[in-house]
Amino acid sequence: MSSGHLSLHSFFPMENKIQNYAWGSTSSIHDLFGFENESQQPQAEVWMGTHPKGCSMVTFDKHLIPLSELINSNKSAYLSSDIAQEFGDLPFLFKILAADKALSIQVHPSKSQAEKGFEQEEQAGISLTANNRNYKDANHKPELVYALTDYQAMNGFRAYDEIMGFFAALHIVELTDLVMDFSHTLTPLGLKTFFNGLLTLSEQRKHNVLDQLLTYAKAHQDQAEFALIIELNHQYPYDVGLFSPLLLNVITLQPGEAMYLSANTPHAYIKGTGLEIMANSDNVLRAGLTPKHIDVDELVECTHFVPIAFDDLILSPQKEGLCDNYDIPVNDFNFGLIHSPKEADVKIDGAEILMAIDSELELRSQNEETMVLARGQSVFIPAYIGSYILSSHGRVARAFN
Ligand SMILES: [Zn+2]
Repeated sequence: MSSGHLSLHSFFPMENKIQNYAWGSTSSIHDLFGFENESQQPQAEVWMGTHPKGCSMVTFDKHLIPLSELINSNKSAYLSSDIAQEFGDLPFLFKILAADKALSIQVHPSKSQAEKGFEQEEQAGISLTANNRNYKDANHKPELVYALTDYQAMNGFRAYDEIMGFFAALHIVELTDLVMDFSHTLTPLGLKTFFNGLLTLSEQRKHNVLDQLLTYAKAHQDQAEFALIIELNHQYPYDVGLFSPLLLNVITLQPGEAMYLSANTPHAYIKGTGLEIMANSDNVLRAGLTPKHIDVDELVECTHFVPIAFDDLILSPQKEGLCDNYDIPVNDFNFGLIHSPKEADVKIDGAEILMAIDSELELRSQNEETMVLARGQSVFIPAYIGSYILSSHGRVARAFN
């Protein structure tokens, strides 16, 4: 492909990889966006980006080619020279995510922890696919989720005295020393010791302790946290992550609400459909609700044991005209929504992905190229076009830098 073609094309409609992970909903993405699902497979995630585990395809001169190939043919033109220089690739992965079952509780490392951890595991010769491999790349993985339906999740530690209150009420004999120590040290160090203690119980003790947790939870299902523990036990029987609703904030985002998930903060998605945007990374340290290996030492090392106030969880957008823009504390991505634009003139200085949420969208470029996208469809827009004219009768999601 020659770069002489660049100016001829303004918009690249995308065909995106659907990931059929077992926790995915079989109906939600079909119901919201009309994606076919004749085989009734879970449609867990739709990936929009260049990630090698599911690179989007784009139409170029009536052929389908991987988006990565298109971008690699001229990174500065497609991404902008700044983004090409700083990241060398599209720096974000944009997803539709539809969870019917809880995903594992996880923590993502900071950038410096990821760089260090990746280097150490490379030096130690641990294969990238080994099940004790923590760091798949040297990048951090901040995330933002925007709810399309009610979206239940856990995010960040509860206040120390809230955690204490639950465990005091549970009154589990095997945990007496841990709970007592924590009650005398309601600090990050105290919580760290308590959390580490729970995760490193012997198998026998863990089983006894979870038995008592479940007995208590069955008798207290009028409290949302304990009803959730019973529900999670159906999905992950006797998993140490069953304690997580007592340790972490449990929140249900309403459609249209968003939340940011910082590095070093434990979180899990429980149920619901949303849009998610993240830095281009696969670095996950698991902390429960998983059959996979938990590296407790590395997890504890990468976790900040500091509560997040429930009222601080929801991220409010900055409103600029028809746009809601979310202020993200990292450079890897920006996320915004444009509400019912009518011939809106949008200036861009980097590559973007647009997705039509509620109804079709119409695009027009300066050289009068036009494109119509159906609800649920997405388009890659190269940096070099500089601006576009956008219309839709509903929300348009915008992933950009
Ligand atoms: Zn995450």
